[in-house]
Amino acid sequence: MMITVAARQEAEGAHLAEHIAQEGVEYSNTSRNVREYSKEVFRMRGIGEGSCLIVVDVQNDFCPDGALGVREGDQVVPVLNLWISEFDKKGMPVVYTQDWHPEDHVSFVESGGIWPPHCVQDTRGADFHPDLIVHGEVCRKGFVSDKEAYSGFDGRVAGPDGPALDRWLKEQEVSRIYVGGLATDYCVKATALDGIRNGYEVVVLKDGVRAVDVRQGDGGRAIAEMVDAGAVLE
Ligand SMILES: [Zn+2]
Repeated sequence: MMITVAARQEAEGAHLAEHIAQEGVEYSNTSRNVREYSKEVFRMRGIGEGSCLIVVDVQNDFCPDGALGVREGDQVVPVLNLWISEFDKKGMPVVYTQDWHPEDHVSFVESGGIWPPHCVQDTRGADFHPDLIVHGEVCRKGFVSDKEAYSGFDGRVAGPDGPALDRWLKEQEVSRIYVGGLATDYCVKATALDGIRNGYEVVVLKDGVRAVDVRQGDGGRAIAEMVDAGAVLE
């Protein structure tokens, strides 16, 4: 799977470099710059037919000052906005997962869980970061009191009675998912691993994720786990 993606991207990159040369595209003419330019373009070109961007839990409570703030959590916003714009331009779907808990959710300390209350339904903490471009479907998860839900694949698209994420993606004929957001070691990891289990090519946007790091190094270990399972880092 990884080989196929890499080979395809390499072929597209070579084709684009040739195209740039033929069209005389205005560009500083060192081969290094052309190479970098084409790399950038084919990276975006990799977003083709069957791609979907999954933006995981970019919500106020997971950003610095939030109830469960992830260090530098807000720094994923500008990176993901670039990807969102690119998907939008290409008419490819973007889905936003949203942790959406009732006040007595099982993951909260008072209910026997491990987390402080966060992303409580209809609170500011549950809102997406104000700078995030939101243009696509929302997939809410964790809205049943006694059910934990880290993975976007545990969520429902467009309302509690909407389709599960896997079904929705299959309806859109998605075969490759790009995953970024918060947090690397929990919901991003769970979503990426479920994506692989459900048969998707999974690309993890390494600059567009941040970790909780309850234990130091959790983020790095999560990345390694996703790659071991077959995810590609971008
Ligand atoms: Zn939660």
